[in-house]
Amino acid sequence: IVVVGMGVIGAEVAASAVQAGCRVTAVEPGGAAMLRTLGGRFGGWLSELHRARGVTAHYGVGVSALEREGGTVRTVILTNGVRLESDAVVVGIGVDPNVELAAAAGLRVANGIVVDAQGRTSDPHVWAAGDVSNQPGFFGTRVRLETFQNAAGQADVAAAAILGGAGGYVQPCWFWSDQYDFNIQVAGRIDDSLRLILRGDLEGDSFTALFLSDKIVEGVLTVNRGADMAVGRRLVGRRAVVNLAAAGDVQVPLRSLI
Ligand SMILES: Cc1cc2nc3c(=O)[nH]c(=O)nc-3n(C[C@H](O)[C@H](O)[C@H](O)COP(=O)(O)OP(=O)(O)OC[C@H]3O[C@@H](n4cnc5c(N)ncnc54)[C@H](O)[C@@H]3O)c2cc1C
Repeated sequence: IVVVGMGVIGAEVAASAVQAGCRVTAVEPGGAAMLRTLGGRFGGWLSELHRARGVTAHYGVGVSALEREGGTVRTVILTNGVRLESDAVVVGIGVDPNVELAAAAGLRVANGIVVDAQGRTSDPHVWAAGDVSNQPGFFGTRVRLETFQNAAGQADVAAAAILGGAGGYVQPCWFWSDQYDFNIQVAGRIDDSLRLILRGDLEGDSFTALFLSDKIVEGVLTVNRGADMAVGRRLVGRRAVVNLAAAGDVQVPLRSLI
Protein backbone atom coordinates (compact mmCIF):
# COMPACT_ATOMS: atom_id res chain seq x y z
CA ILE A 1 0.00 0.00 0.00
CA VAL A 2 1.27 3.45 -0.85
CA VAL A 3 0.03 6.13 1.53
CA VAL A 4 0.20 9.63 0.09
CA GLY A 5 0.28 12.22 2.87
CA MET A 6 1.46 11.47 6.41
CA GLY A 7 -0.94 13.80 8.20
CA VAL A 8 -3.31 12.36 10.82
CA ILE A 9 -5.29 10.30 8.29
CA GLY A 10 -2.25 8.98 6.43
CA ALA A 11 -0.39 8.11 9.63
CA GLU A 12 -3.42 6.25 11.03
CA VAL A 13 -3.90 4.35 7.77
CA ALA A 14 -0.19 3.48 7.64
CA ALA A 15 -0.30 2.11 11.20
CA SER A 16 -3.49 0.10 10.60
CA ALA A 17 -2.20 -1.30 7.31
CA VAL A 18 1.06 -2.42 8.92
CA GLN A 19 -0.92 -4.09 11.71
CA ALA A 20 -3.06 -5.81 9.06
CA GLY A 21 0.11 -7.28 7.54
CA CYS A 22 0.55 -4.94 4.58
CA ARG A 23 3.85 -3.61 3.33
CA VAL A 24 3.49 0.18 3.53
CA THR A 25 5.34 2.95 1.74
CA ALA A 26 4.50 6.54 2.67
CA VAL A 27 5.09 9.70 0.64
CA GLU A 28 5.03 13.07 2.39
CA PRO A 29 6.21 16.43 1.00
CA GLY A 30 6.88 17.72 4.53
CA GLY A 31 9.86 16.66 6.56
CA ALA A 32 8.05 14.37 9.01
CA ALA A 33 4.77 12.66 9.89
CA MET A 34 2.01 14.92 11.27
CA LEU A 35 4.36 17.89 11.05
CA ARG A 36 1.53 20.45 11.01
CA THR A 37 -0.01 19.18 14.24
CA LEU A 38 3.04 17.86 16.15
CA GLY A 39 5.82 20.23 15.06
CA GLY A 40 9.29 19.12 14.01
CA ARG A 41 10.51 17.40 17.14
CA PHE A 42 7.46 15.25 17.79
CA GLY A 43 6.79 14.79 14.09
CA GLY A 44 10.29 13.32 14.04
CA TRP A 45 9.42 11.12 17.01
CA LEU A 46 6.33 9.81 15.18
CA SER A 47 8.24 9.29 11.92
CA GLU A 48 10.75 7.16 13.79
CA LEU A 49 7.90 5.17 15.35
CA HIS A 50 6.52 4.36 11.90
CA ARG A 51 9.98 3.52 10.57
CA ALA A 52 10.59 1.13 13.47
CA ARG A 53 7.26 -0.60 12.73
CA GLY A 54 8.22 -1.15 9.09
CA VAL A 55 6.88 1.85 7.15
CA THR A 56 9.23 2.93 4.37
CA ALA A 57 8.78 6.68 4.10
CA HIS A 58 9.81 9.23 1.49
CA TYR A 59 9.77 12.64 3.20
CA GLY A 60 10.33 15.91 1.36
CA VAL A 61 8.98 14.39 -1.86
CA GLY A 62 5.66 14.73 -3.66
CA VAL A 63 3.74 12.65 -6.16
CA SER A 64 3.96 13.66 -9.81
CA ALA A 65 1.79 10.94 -11.37
CA LEU A 66 -0.23 7.81 -10.78
CA GLU A 67 -0.10 5.14 -13.49
CA ARG A 68 -3.04 2.83 -13.99
CA GLU A 69 -3.14 -0.69 -15.30
CA GLY A 70 -6.55 -2.10 -16.14
CA GLY A 71 -8.35 0.66 -14.24
CA THR A 72 -6.28 0.21 -11.07
CA VAL A 73 -3.39 2.39 -9.94
CA ARG A 74 -0.29 0.22 -10.04
CA THR A 75 2.57 2.73 -9.95
CA VAL A 76 3.09 5.93 -7.99
CA ILE A 77 5.72 8.20 -9.52
CA LEU A 78 7.42 10.61 -7.16
CA THR A 79 8.69 14.10 -7.97
CA ASN A 80 12.26 12.79 -7.65
CA GLY A 81 11.59 10.15 -10.29
CA VAL A 82 11.30 7.18 -7.91
CA ARG A 83 8.62 4.69 -9.03
CA LEU A 84 6.68 2.80 -6.34
CA GLU A 85 4.72 -0.30 -7.27
CA SER A 86 1.44 -0.61 -5.37
CA ASP A 87 -1.64 -2.78 -4.95
CA ALA A 88 -3.55 0.14 -3.46
CA VAL A 89 -3.00 3.85 -2.95
CA VAL A 90 -4.52 5.81 -0.07
CA VAL A 91 -4.52 9.59 -0.53
CA GLY A 92 -4.90 11.60 2.68
CA ILE A 93 -3.79 15.10 1.75
CA GLY A 94 -6.37 17.32 3.44
CA VAL A 95 -9.77 18.74 2.59
CA ASP A 96 -11.21 21.84 1.00
CA PRO A 97 -14.41 23.15 2.56
CA ASN A 98 -17.48 23.14 0.27
CA VAL A 99 -18.22 26.86 0.36
CA GLU A 100 -19.91 27.16 -3.04
CA LEU A 101 -23.45 27.32 -1.61
CA ALA A 102 -22.46 29.95 0.97
CA ALA A 103 -20.56 32.00 -1.62
CA ALA A 104 -23.51 31.87 -4.03
CA ALA A 105 -25.75 33.12 -1.20
CA GLY A 106 -23.44 36.11 -0.77
CA LEU A 107 -21.96 35.07 2.61
CA ARG A 108 -18.42 36.07 3.46
CA VAL A 109 -16.07 33.22 2.62
CA ALA A 110 -12.32 32.98 3.32
CA ASN A 111 -10.88 29.50 3.87
CA GLY A 112 -14.37 28.43 4.98
CA ILE A 113 -17.52 30.34 5.85
CA VAL A 114 -16.54 33.25 8.08
CA VAL A 115 -18.49 33.15 11.37
CA ASP A 116 -18.40 34.89 14.73
CA ALA A 117 -17.99 33.12 18.09
CA GLN A 118 -21.66 32.11 17.97
CA GLY A 119 -21.43 30.66 14.47
CA ARG A 120 -23.24 33.60 12.88
CA THR A 121 -22.18 34.33 9.30
CA SER A 122 -22.00 37.73 7.61
CA ASP A 123 -25.78 37.40 7.21
CA PRO A 124 -27.22 37.61 10.76
CA HIS A 125 -29.94 35.09 9.87
CA VAL A 126 -27.54 32.38 8.69
CA TRP A 127 -25.28 30.22 10.89
CA ALA A 128 -22.49 27.79 10.07
CA ALA A 129 -20.57 25.33 12.29
CA GLY A 130 -18.01 22.58 11.99
CA ASP A 131 -15.25 21.94 9.47
CA VAL A 132 -16.72 24.37 6.95
CA SER A 133 -16.51 27.39 9.24
CA ASN A 134 -13.69 29.85 9.74
CA GLN A 135 -14.10 30.91 13.36
CA PRO A 136 -12.38 33.10 15.99
CA GLY A 137 -9.60 30.95 17.45
CA PHE A 138 -8.56 30.53 21.06
CA PHE A 139 -5.12 32.02 20.39
CA GLY A 140 -6.40 35.18 18.70
CA THR A 141 -6.14 34.27 15.04
CA ARG A 142 -8.99 32.85 12.95
CA VAL A 143 -9.00 29.09 12.51
CA ARG A 144 -10.80 26.40 10.57
CA LEU A 145 -10.74 23.28 12.73
CA GLU A 146 -11.42 19.72 11.61
CA THR A 147 -12.37 17.77 14.73
CA PHE A 148 -15.52 16.14 16.07
CA GLN A 149 -15.13 18.03 19.33
CA ASN A 150 -15.12 21.39 17.56
CA ALA A 151 -18.05 20.51 15.28
CA ALA A 152 -20.14 19.38 18.26
CA GLY A 153 -19.22 22.25 20.60
CA GLN A 154 -19.61 24.95 17.98
CA ALA A 155 -22.94 23.50 16.82
CA ASP A 156 -24.26 23.53 20.42
CA VAL A 157 -23.44 27.21 20.77
CA ALA A 158 -24.83 28.07 17.31
CA ALA A 159 -28.10 26.28 18.13
CA ALA A 160 -28.34 28.13 21.44
CA ALA A 161 -27.61 31.44 19.68
CA ILE A 162 -30.40 30.81 17.16
CA LEU A 163 -32.69 30.48 20.19
CA GLY A 164 -31.41 33.75 21.63
CA GLY A 165 -28.57 32.44 23.82
CA ALA A 166 -25.59 34.66 24.55
CA GLY A 167 -22.65 32.23 24.88
CA GLY A 168 -19.71 31.98 22.49
CA TYR A 169 -17.49 29.10 21.42
CA VAL A 170 -13.79 29.96 21.43
CA GLN A 171 -12.00 26.85 22.60
CA PRO A 172 -8.54 25.38 22.11
CA CYS A 173 -8.43 22.47 19.69
CA TRP A 174 -8.35 18.96 21.16
CA PHE A 175 -8.06 15.69 19.28
CA TRP A 176 -6.54 12.24 19.57
CA SER A 177 -5.15 9.61 17.28
CA ASP A 178 -4.47 5.93 17.90
CA GLN A 179 -1.50 4.53 16.01
CA TYR A 180 -0.11 1.05 16.80
CA ASP A 181 -0.30 0.84 20.58
CA PHE A 182 0.13 4.58 21.06
CA ASN A 183 -2.70 6.91 22.04
CA ILE A 184 -1.61 10.40 20.99
CA GLN A 185 -3.60 13.41 22.23
CA VAL A 186 -3.07 17.06 21.49
CA ALA A 187 -4.68 20.11 23.10
CA GLY A 188 -4.00 23.71 22.17
CA ARG A 189 -0.96 24.71 20.18
CA ILE A 190 2.21 22.76 19.55
CA ASP A 191 4.88 24.84 17.98
CA ASP A 192 8.66 24.41 17.78
CA SER A 193 9.08 28.05 18.84
CA LEU A 194 7.42 27.41 22.23
CA ARG A 195 9.30 26.37 25.37
CA LEU A 196 9.14 22.59 25.75
CA ILE A 197 8.84 20.81 29.08
CA LEU A 198 8.96 17.04 28.79
CA ARG A 199 7.59 14.80 31.52
CA GLY A 200 8.77 11.30 30.80
CA ASP A 201 11.04 9.85 28.18
CA LEU A 202 10.72 10.10 24.39
CA GLU A 203 12.28 6.65 24.07
CA GLY A 204 9.69 5.15 26.45
CA ASP A 205 6.12 4.24 25.59
CA SER A 206 4.48 7.16 27.42
CA PHE A 207 5.23 10.81 28.05
CA THR A 208 3.62 14.22 28.40
CA ALA A 209 4.94 17.37 26.79
CA LEU A 210 3.95 20.90 27.78
CA PHE A 211 4.43 23.82 25.38
CA LEU A 212 4.71 27.22 27.00
CA SER A 213 4.97 30.80 25.97
CA ASP A 214 6.84 32.38 28.86
CA LYS A 215 5.14 30.55 31.76
CA ILE A 216 1.73 30.14 30.10
CA VAL A 217 0.72 26.66 28.98
CA GLU A 218 -0.36 26.94 25.33
CA GLY A 219 -0.29 23.30 24.32
CA VAL A 220 -0.14 19.79 25.73
CA LEU A 221 0.79 16.53 24.01
CA THR A 222 0.23 13.22 25.75
CA VAL A 223 1.32 9.81 24.54
CA ASN A 224 -0.40 6.96 26.38
CA ARG A 225 -1.22 9.34 29.23
CA GLY A 226 -4.88 10.13 28.80
CA ALA A 227 -5.24 11.09 32.47
CA ASP A 228 -2.66 13.85 31.96
CA MET A 229 -4.70 15.20 29.05
CA ALA A 230 -7.74 15.73 31.29
CA VAL A 231 -5.53 18.07 33.32
CA GLY A 232 -3.70 19.40 30.26
CA ARG A 233 -6.90 20.61 28.63
CA ARG A 234 -7.73 22.59 31.74
CA LEU A 235 -4.22 24.10 31.83
CA VAL A 236 -4.52 25.20 28.20
CA GLY A 237 -8.15 26.34 28.52
CA ARG A 238 -7.31 28.52 31.52
CA ARG A 239 -4.07 29.79 29.99
CA ALA A 240 -2.50 28.61 33.25
CA VAL A 241 0.66 30.30 34.44
CA VAL A 242 2.86 27.59 35.94
CA ASN A 243 6.02 27.23 37.96
CA LEU A 244 8.56 25.92 35.43
CA ALA A 245 10.51 23.79 37.92
CA ALA A 246 7.33 22.13 39.17
CA ALA A 247 6.06 21.63 35.61
CA GLY A 248 9.21 19.74 34.70
CA ASP A 249 9.34 17.64 37.87
CA VAL A 250 7.57 14.31 37.30
CA GLN A 251 7.32 13.90 41.09
CA VAL A 252 4.97 16.91 41.14
CA PRO A 253 1.48 15.83 40.03
CA LEU A 254 0.36 17.68 36.91
CA ARG A 255 -2.94 18.41 38.62
CA SER A 256 -1.17 20.56 41.19
CA LEU A 257 -0.19 23.00 38.40
CA ILE A 258 -3.81 24.09 37.93
C1 LIG B 1 -11.01 9.73 7.54
C2 LIG B 1 -11.30 10.75 8.61
C3 LIG B 1 -11.03 10.46 9.94
C4 LIG B 1 -11.30 11.40 10.94
N1 LIG B 1 -11.02 11.08 12.25
C5 LIG B 1 -11.28 11.99 13.21
C6 LIG B 1 -11.00 11.68 14.59
O1 LIG B 1 -10.53 10.59 14.92
N2 LIG B 1 -11.28 12.62 15.53
C7 LIG B 1 -11.81 13.83 15.19
O2 LIG B 1 -12.05 14.65 16.09
N3 LIG B 1 -12.07 14.15 13.91
C8 LIG B 1 -11.83 13.25 12.91
N4 LIG B 1 -12.08 13.59 11.61
C9 LIG B 1 -12.67 14.90 11.33
C10 LIG B 1 -14.17 14.83 11.55
O3 LIG B 1 -14.70 13.83 10.73
C11 LIG B 1 -14.78 16.18 11.21
O4 LIG B 1 -14.20 17.20 11.99
C12 LIG B 1 -16.29 16.19 11.45
O5 LIG B 1 -16.91 15.18 10.73
C13 LIG B 1 -16.85 17.56 11.05
O6 LIG B 1 -18.26 17.54 11.11
P1 LIG B 1 -19.08 18.50 10.17
O7 LIG B 1 -20.51 18.24 10.47
O8 LIG B 1 -18.54 19.88 10.27
O9 LIG B 1 -18.73 18.05 8.67
P2 LIG B 1 -18.98 16.65 7.94
O10 LIG B 1 -18.99 15.52 8.89
O11 LIG B 1 -18.00 16.66 6.80
O12 LIG B 1 -20.44 16.83 7.37
C14 LIG B 1 -20.74 17.78 6.36
C15 LIG B 1 -21.91 17.23 5.56
O13 LIG B 1 -22.38 18.25 4.69
C16 LIG B 1 -22.61 17.70 3.43
N5 LIG B 1 -22.53 18.78 2.43
C17 LIG B 1 -21.44 19.34 1.86
N6 LIG B 1 -21.79 20.29 0.98
C18 LIG B 1 -23.13 20.37 1.02
C19 LIG B 1 -24.12 21.17 0.33
N7 LIG B 1 -23.75 22.11 -0.55
N8 LIG B 1 -25.40 20.96 0.63
C20 LIG B 1 -25.78 20.04 1.53
N9 LIG B 1 -24.92 19.25 2.20
C21 LIG B 1 -23.61 19.42 1.94
C22 LIG B 1 -21.53 16.65 3.29
O14 LIG B 1 -21.90 15.68 2.29
C23 LIG B 1 -21.51 16.05 4.70
O15 LIG B 1 -22.45 15.03 4.87
C24 LIG B 1 -11.82 12.66 10.60
C25 LIG B 1 -12.07 12.95 9.26
C26 LIG B 1 -11.81 12.03 8.27
C27 LIG B 1 -12.09 12.38 6.82
